[in-house]
Amino acid sequence: MKECNQCGKCCTKYGNGGLSATDDEIELWDIFKPDIYNYVRDGKIWMDPDTGKQLEVCPWLRKVPNQEIYTCDIYYDRPDDCKYYPVTIEQMLNDECEMLEEKDLAKPKQAQKTLNKIMADSRPPYE
Ligand code: SF4
Ligand code: SF4
Repeated sequence: MKECNQCGKCCTKYGNGGLSATDDEIELWDIFKPDIYNYVRDGKIWMDPDTGKQLEVCPWLRKVPNQEIYTCDIYYDRPDDCKYYPVTIEQMLNDECEMLEEKDLAKPKQAQKTLNKIMADSRPPYE
């Protein structure tokens, strides 16, 4: 299992309607982060502030110039849905997450434990 290399695949895949935010997260954005709240409509993220329609690309995903690396403009305020990723080895395989190595596929249970350790600061362990 490698560290995340910021390839941006997960944000690209889920940023266009595949993410959700909790009522608490939305309320906090409403009070403290109006710029983020602007992209919420009827409890859904990320919506075009002008048209109210679902955006095709997450508005906070930023490509680092001259590199194939992506960052998140709201990293410290992003929803748990983003913070928790990746959760399972199966999900990583489906998404072609670049943290995954060949040896992880040979021992998926061990790989899940390693992933849980890497993600310990971001989410509860997945058993
Ligand atoms: S909010 Fe940030 S972490 Fe979440 S999909 Fe967008 S760029 Fe990625
Ligand atoms: S797909 Fe995996 S390696 Fe790429 S940014 Fe997401 S977590 Fe990191």
